[in-house]
Amino acid sequence: MHVLIVGAGFGGLGAARALARQARVEVTLVDKKNHHLFQALLYQVAAAGLTPSDIASPVRSLFRKSPQVRVLMAELTGLDPVAKVARFDQGQLEVTYDALILSLGGETNYFGHPEWARHAPGLKSIEQALNLRSHVLEAFERAEKCTLAEQRRRLMTVVVIGGGPTGVELSGAFAELRRHVLRWDFRSIHPEEARIVLIEGGARVLGAFPADLSQAAERDLRSLGVELYLNQRVQDIGEGYVQTDQQRLEAHTIVWAAGVSGHPLAAQLGLPVVAGGRVAVQADLSVPGFPEIFCIGDMCFFPDAQGKPLPGMAPVAMQQGPHAARNALARLAGQATADFVYQDPGIMATVGRSKGVAVLGQRHISGTLGWLTWLWHHLLRIVDFQNRALVSLRWSWAYLTWKWGVRLIHQGPDPTHNRQGQAELA
Ligand SMILES: Cc1cc2nc3c(=O)[nH]c(=O)nc-3n(C[C@H](O)[C@H](O)[C@H](O)COP(=O)(O)OP(=O)(O)OC[C@H]3O[C@@H](n4cnc5c(N)ncnc54)[C@H](O)[C@@H]3O)c2cc1C
Repeated sequence: MHVLIVGAGFGGLGAARALARQARVEVTLVDKKNHHLFQALLYQVAAAGLTPSDIASPVRSLFRKSPQVRVLMAELTGLDPVAKVARFDQGQLEVTYDALILSLGGETNYFGHPEWARHAPGLKSIEQALNLRSHVLEAFERAEKCTLAEQRRRLMTVVVIGGGPTGVELSGAFAELRRHVLRWDFRSIHPEEARIVLIEGGARVLGAFPADLSQAAERDLRSLGVELYLNQRVQDIGEGYVQTDQQRLEAHTIVWAAGVSGHPLAAQLGLPVVAGGRVAVQADLSVPGFPEIFCIGDMCFFPDAQGKPLPGMAPVAMQQGPHAARNALARLAGQATADFVYQDPGIMATVGRSKGVAVLGQRHISGTLGWLTWLWHHLLRIVDFQNRALVSLRWSWAYLTWKWGVRLIHQGPDPTHNRQGQAELA
């Protein structure tokens, strides 16, 4: 029996780990990257708190001790569900399967404005996090050399669009970076005066959280000096500016944290997608019409008891992975599959280094306890022990010293964040 798993995020990894313990099954796990990435901590890479290797683990090494799991680095580009063949790298590789588990994640959603991606990249990959880090740090370097007040101000302005957990965490981290870390490093400019702006289209940040926790997060953001604009809809984004329905903001750095949709490949592969580009799966996570194909994690649309889709969050993918694996085995053995039931472990977000909010069951937690709850859950989700230890050490060091050691500007390709002309340097 051969189970093919595509995508080594939380969903795919969970499925592969569940199957790795089954002697009678061969598993092939394929990802276009060679690493599993803990996306929830990407913002700390962007804000110079962690390095990429702290939050990414080579997939191959995670299955070093599982001989029946074959790991391949390749990009899924085609599928023949009738012949049960998946095609990778534009047809250069074909893999046949008895059961297929797809866990390709999602992509940044610009709500019909893909042209905004050029000026306001999202945060979904290590490359984007490193580009963002370099872009922000380089802007401060340029501001230090610039004598024109207005241009300095623009260089030292970061606008984050979207007040969900990523936007809140990112703006909080940038606010601390400029207030507690960069302020000691420059002589001509005052980094602590840099503007960190968070724009949210709704009436409150963290819309998925209860209102009291949104208010706590807003208070914490404001105390860090984040300019918060609620009920403002972005109408246009261009080079160095954001136009909302109420104001125009000049900013050298603009980040899009406002939405995620399903994986674009799903529709191209002919899978049934619903609004948001997610694959509508059945109660057992299989794809309608293709009982041996299972679709999990961010790429699937799975309604809860009230008909609302489960959120695109790690715990959903982590629970669906093993469940899809068990159902794939049942299907291949001619047995009945089981419906998926989500056990909600709660939601949480952090605002800076010692404030956070969390919902655990009926409990609403904020402040330092909220932050500790966030810290504990996120450490537990880091998939390998070495990274868990490294991140703990780095967090402890940063907590005690305010020294964030990863403030390197790398000269890698910068496809989205525009370097602006040298004219602004006086
Ligand atoms: C910035 C950010 C912050 C987040 N913060 C939190 C948080 O605090 N808490 C929380 O619970 N969740 C958070 N999430 C959401 C969480 O990371 C996702 O819900 C979770 O990773 C989903 O797992 P997945 O397996 O569905 O997809 P992913 O983890 O996205 O994995 C998909 C995998 O598929 C691979 N892939 C994609 N296309 C192909 C292809 N064509 N061929 C081969 N491989 C492919 C990718 O390389 C990737 O490894 C955050 C997400 C982001 C982006």
